[in-house]
Amino acid sequence: MPDKEIQCRVCGRSFVWSERRQAAYALKGFVDPSRCDSCRAIGPNDPQPKKIQCAICYKPFVWNTESQKIYEKRRFEPPIRCATCRKEREEGTRTFADGSKRYRIECEECDRVDYVTFVPRGDRPVLCTEHYRIAKKEKEK
Ligand SMILES: [Zn+2]
Ligand SMILES: [Zn+2]
Ligand SMILES: [Zn+2]
Repeated sequence: MPDKEIQCRVCGRSFVWSERRQAAYALKGFVDPSRCDSCRAIGPNDPQPKKIQCAICYKPFVWNTESQKIYEKRRFEPPIRCATCRKEREEGTRTFADGSKRYRIECEECDRVDYVTFVPRGDRPVLCTEHYRIAKKEKEK
């Protein structure tokens, strides 16, 4: 029996199920575990890792117990964004469905928040898609 890789059904991480432990389990007539060691160490009364659907990209992510404890201690609201979306929010970027990365801007004409494909620079006005189109048209006149 070679080592097996099993994906934990709780945290989604894969872990190695060693040959030695497979043999020990088989000897006792146990089936292979479906949870990794750290998830199995969680008792029924301990906080469980939670699956949350990201409010931005709608992908589910796991809110692990360590993080839950920190949030609870600081009395934070549970997270609504996955790690990727949280990082993008900090950077002011967003990855769109087509895979393109865009930068958050605030239009100088209408103060609307928009996402653009170029890195916004301080030396030219940042405009939303609509105002950019208007500005470009005016230039062409
Ligand atoms: Zn796990
Ligand atoms: Zn997300
Ligand atoms: Zn605008």
